[in-house]
Formats: sequence, C-alpha cells, structure tokens
Amino acid sequence: MSGGHAWLTRWVRPPVRLVATAIAAALLGACAHHAGSSPAHAGTSLPLNGVVVGLDPGHNGRNWSDPSYIDRLVWNGREKEACDTTGTATNGGYPESQFNWDVAVDARHILEALGARVVLTRASNDSVGPCITTRALLLDRARVRVAVDIHADGGPPTGRGFAILVPVADRWNHRVVVPSRRFARDLRSTFRSVAGMPWSTYDGIDAIQPRDDLAGLNLTTVPKVLIECGNMRNATDAAMLASPAFQRHAARAIALAVAAFLGRRVR
Ligand SMILES: [Zn+2]
Repeated sequence: MSGGHAWLTRWVRPPVRLVATAIAAALLGACAHHAGSSPAHAGTSLPLNGVVVGLDPGHNGRNWSDPSYIDRLVWNGREKEACDTTGTATNGGYPESQFNWDVAVDARHILEALGARVVLTRASNDSVGPCITTRALLLDRARVRVAVDIHADGGPPTGRGFAILVPVADRWNHRVVVPSRRFARDLRSTFRSVAGMPWSTYDGIDAIQPRDDLAGLNLTTVPKVLIECGNMRNATDAAMLASPAFQRHAARAIALAVAAFLGRRVR
C-alpha cells in the first residue's frame, strides 16, 4: 500500500516543526464554537483561567498509509515499541483515530470556554504521526498541569465499558504517579456519571489499570492518564462511541475531571 502512495505520505507526514507550528496557531486562535469565551476574550473569573491542559488524541487518520514511519521502533522508557499504530475501529468501520480526534476537539472547546489553554499533540485527523514519544515530549515541554491520552479499545466483543490506564513509577514519571492516580479517580467519576459509560468489565480493577508499557505514561513528567473510552468491538459501546452526543458528553466529562483535579468549581 505504501509504494503507490509514497509521494503522498511524504506530503502528509507532518514534521515535528509543522506540528508545533500548528499547535501554536491553535493556541493563538479563538475557538470557532465559543468565540465569545475564547482565552483572548476571557474575563478573570473563569474557573480554568491560567491553566494549560494537554490532550493527546491517540493515533492519526492516515497512519495506515505510512507503515515505514509508524512501525519504526522508539524507546518508550522501558523497552522499544512501534512509533504508533493505526488504532482500532468499530465493526461498522468508524475508526478509533476519528473518535479520539472528535472527542479531543469537543474537549478543547469546553476547556477553552472554561478559560483554559489547550495543547493538542496533533493538528488534524488527516495526517501521519507523530510518534508516541514525540507526543509525550510535547506535553512535558509545554508543562501542562494535567493531560489525557484519549483512546477507545479494541477488546473482546462481549466486554463493555471504559478503563483508565495510569503510570507505574520510573525515572521520568515518578513525581507524577500519585497525582495521576488521583486524576484517574476524578475522571472515573465524571466519565460514568456524565458520559454514562459503565466501568470496564474486562480491563483494570474498578476501571483503573496501572501500565508500565506505554510511552505516554512512562515518559510523562506531568500528571497524565490514558482513557479507553469504551470498547469499539462491543456493539453497545460502539453505538455510543460513534454518537456525536456521547462524544460531547465524554468531552464534558474530561473537562469536569480536569476542573475537579485542580479544585476549580464549575457550575
Ligand atoms: Zn488507541
């Protein structure tokens, strides 16, 4: 598949500098859906004023098109693993990368309306990369107060629900393991009550699972969790995940968890 599209994949692959530029532009730009309450116009009383939040929508919509880039090995803090994967999809063909992006965009709008600045690890859903290591570095260097890696799982078809993956202490993340686990409990609470997704029936204990094999959690120096928002291979979860209404609720759950973690009251 890659041979015929070699020129195209070179064109669509975003160098890190371009991603950084796009992110900077996104930070400066007002959110179209909440133009009146974007950071540039925000008063001093918004609950998340002065807070920088990281959102990492997993994978990217054209990762499939450049296996030589996506399959390259990177150091995740404990071992080598692939730069990224294509992600999973529902049986109906709705891709995880699109879901992750849709929720991240919704969450960005909500967080900005609450006064936060948002750093995204990719600028669109129609390109390739960046690698999982680059995503972690982007958020570390931006010194975000808290970050969420947004994913959906490809689990057993009979398994339902969301799970939150949390870091295990290593030389990079050891200062943020405790706050990350506190944030995980905040997100677990809002994700069930606001998004309406049940706890995972197959991953984690009470929907929380420590993981030491993921670059995003191993290399983080900011409080961070990875949420598998549901199981794309389960028919009930898949119908929810593909619904724009659910995506907005999921985004709101993320924003409310950020506010709760930082002790900010949101009406
Ligand atoms: Zn994923």
